[in-house]
Amino acid sequence: MPTLDQRLADIKLLMRYAVPPNDLTKAAALVEKHSTDSVALHIFHAFYSYLPEGLEDAITVLRLLDRRQGAFLICASTGLADYLYLVTSEQAEFLGPLSEGIWEDEVLAFFNLENREAFLKKYADLTAFPVYVPAHLHNDLCPFCHVADGEIHTLGCPVEICPWCGGQLTSCGCRFTLLGKTALKNESQLEELLALLNKKGRLPFSAEEHRPAYPITPEDLQ
Ligand SMILES: [Zn+2]
Ligand SMILES: [Zn+2]
Repeated sequence: MPTLDQRLADIKLLMRYAVPPNDLTKAAALVEKHSTDSVALHIFHAFYSYLPEGLEDAITVLRLLDRRQGAFLICASTGLADYLYLVTSEQAEFLGPLSEGIWEDEVLAFFNLENREAFLKKYADLTAFPVYVPAHLHNDLCPFCHVADGEIHTLGCPVEICPWCGGQLTSCGCRFTLLGKTALKNESQLEELLALLNKKGRLPFSAEEHRPAYPITPEDLQ
């Protein structure tokens, strides 16, 4: 995974070819505003490397339509149209124009929408939905994997507390001791660890405990 700075540099380069010259200053300012937010940077990168209409264009606003378990449903608006992205701390997936709604049943179900019509009805008035604020500034979200208060972290999130030793799960040695291994090498060992974790009981993200004086930003953890 590239660092945020690399991502930002890549996006700025892509924008030179993708954005109409007159829109560049404003479009770059929007990107800059989100320069420490992996969620928004994934969208900018996806958009500017693959312009949905194949025409020069620029994102003017991001709106948060919904979020759940570290996944964000975000609408990126441009002068031409509105586009849907499903974003996690790992990647942004382009879902298509807002006007067409969501076609994937799995995604609809994940956001508790009965069908595509229900989506179109709910999101008919875009202005009713808030402008997206960088994920790490949401006080009720894990600053790294972006799950909400009380939700279980994405496996591998450096904020997750180890239920055995109380340390940082990604850096303590418990997993090696428990699995009798010196390194975790494959998917099945991760599955094994996950099963042990679930049996022991994973510690969900607690905004109260982890946010107020949280000393590090997601960048420090990369
Ligand atoms: Zn987390
Ligand atoms: Zn531990």
